[in-house]
Amino acid sequence: MHPISKPDYMPVDELRAMQLRKLQKIIPYEYERVPLFRRRCDEKGVHPRDLATLKDLARFPFMKKTDLRDEYPLGLTAAPMHDIVRFHCSSGTTGKPICIPSTQGDIDIWSEGVARCLAMYGLTADDILQVSYGYGLFTGGLGAHYGGEKLGCAVLPTGAGNTEKQIMLMQDLGVTAIACTPSYFLHLATTAEKMGVDFRRDTKLRHGIFGAEPWTNEIRAKIESIAGITAHDIYGLTEIAGPGVAGNCGRCNGLHVWEDHFYPEIIDPDTLEVLPDGEQGELVFTTLDRFGTPMIRYRTRDISRLQTGRCECGRTMRVMDRISARSDDMLIVHGVNVFPSQIETGLMKVPEVAPHYQIVLSSTDTLDLFEIKVEVVAEAFSDNIRDLEALRRRVLAAVKGIIGLTPKITLVGPGTLPRSEGKIKRVIDNRRK
Ligand code: ADP
Ligand code: ZN
Repeated sequence: MHPISKPDYMPVDELRAMQLRKLQKIIPYEYERVPLFRRRCDEKGVHPRDLATLKDLARFPFMKKTDLRDEYPLGLTAAPMHDIVRFHCSSGTTGKPICIPSTQGDIDIWSEGVARCLAMYGLTADDILQVSYGYGLFTGGLGAHYGGEKLGCAVLPTGAGNTEKQIMLMQDLGVTAIACTPSYFLHLATTAEKMGVDFRRDTKLRHGIFGAEPWTNEIRAKIESIAGITAHDIYGLTEIAGPGVAGNCGRCNGLHVWEDHFYPEIIDPDTLEVLPDGEQGELVFTTLDRFGTPMIRYRTRDISRLQTGRCECGRTMRVMDRISARSDDMLIVHGVNVFPSQIETGLMKVPEVAPHYQIVLSSTDTLDLFEIKVEVVAEAFSDNIRDLEALRRRVLAAVKGIIGLTPKITLVGPGTLPRSEGKIKRVIDNRRK
């Protein structure tokens, strides 16, 4: 075992005691330094000294993305600028981004989280890791970069884009692992095919480290079969650190949360009550020892579940379900709740469907129009209208079987839908709000 993995196996009672100790330090620290947190605690009538057991955390107020927007840029920063060494900002599709300043200690914890994930995936200092996540304000690139270096990998910081050159470097340097969004990897794979490069035959690639966007087990199976690699899941968010908050060990269908640093809770998003392990709800994190911008009970809007029972890999850190949905990704179509991941699961059941699709919603005065554009593989995109119509019906049946609605299915040829270098946007919602 690599020394970096040691905490993964910490005895549970020690882990709980450590979590409580860390909470009893971070909560008073936050209370003293961040006016918003202090005000909210006072309003709720709760004081840091009320935290006597882990259960008492539930008495403290939540933080939300809107708090970070309202307090932009530095209102939630707890450390003096003297101690800050880095800023990251998350995209925020509209308006102001959110800004998370980190101390050196914060960056070290984050890098350790990524390195522990990489070690869990089976990477070692002998691996050559290509980082094709975007570098910059987005946490993907620098997160994977520092984590890879911490484990001792040789890091190739290509960033996203310049796809053909990436494939050339991958071959020339004998890259064994790549970190990027699953959607960008699919783009890399199609480009390689066009260049006549076969990942199995012409590269040494064995591991893909994918995250930053939801991806179903069906897409994962497709990626593994296209490229002959193991596709590992890595989860995280800017507010809590970046990628490397949790990762998949390969023995269970979920992700171990590095809960010695990132304390997870699952809440009912309507009543805000804490739910017991085993129940699905909104994932909430408290950063136990990040001092730049501590997050106390931060509502991620990601939907998950903390699994009960111990994973057979022996790690004691709790396992959360893979993120199948983000609560704000949910679409309401004809009064029915639909998650894009359900559509993806249906589509991927049809072998002729390529892993590229787009969901388009628009509206007339009276009606929602719901269309799914689906790319099919070259061999299936025939000129024979009858064959295509039969395929279209099969695709419709697969989707309808899951969501119970009848969208308009439009089959399109290979390479027609937009590709992405970072997080992909699969839903185009043109409906009037
Ligand atoms: P933004 O919130 O602007 O997208 P981030 O880059 O911080 O900014 O993205 C974090 C979000 O990305 C998470 O809250 C989650 O919704 C999604 N995400 C990250 N990793 C994964 C993953 N492995 N699986 C599914 N979703 C993920
Ligand atoms: Zn495990």
